[in-house]
Amino acid sequence: MATIFSKIIKGDIPCYKIAEDENFFAFLDINPIAKGHTLVVPKIEVDNFFHLDDTILMSYMPFCKKVSIAIEKVVPCNRVGMSVIGLEVPHAHVHLIPLNNMGDASFSKKKLEFSKEEFQEISNAIAKQFQIDFL
Ligand code: 5GP
Repeated sequence: MATIFSKIIKGDIPCYKIAEDENFFAFLDINPIAKGHTLVVPKIEVDNFFHLDDTILMSYMPFCKKVSIAIEKVVPCNRVGMSVIGLEVPHAHVHLIPLNNMGDASFSKKKLEFSKEEFQEISNAIAKQFQIDFL
């Protein structure tokens, strides 16, 4: 059965999309730990990040880098951090998280809440910045 992320990539489940290329798809995490918290998912369905083919892994970071540059320009932060966890969704993904302090990187704290309009505004702004810089 397709993972929830494959359904999002296919457009069967809505998301706040940031960007995509032939191999990767980036969208806002629905339960963010920071404003602009973004997931970057390979279109190929593999559960464990470190089980991905080397060829995919080699193009993964350059795509994450572009997304993080767009996030950094839109969301005030000291830097964009990166986490690979994967305990909830069995489809490899990277979390890109705008950070100002160590606490911002904590997945244990209460998740932030945004309205649909706020999510849309954040994703539109990052997506637009990505297009300006990289398309
Ligand atoms: P992990 O698998 O790395 O532990 O966490 C999965 C992440 O995916 C969580 O941060 C969770 O909020 C996010 N997530 C789970 N389901 C959905 C969904 O349907 N849409 C979006 N945008 N994010 C999701």
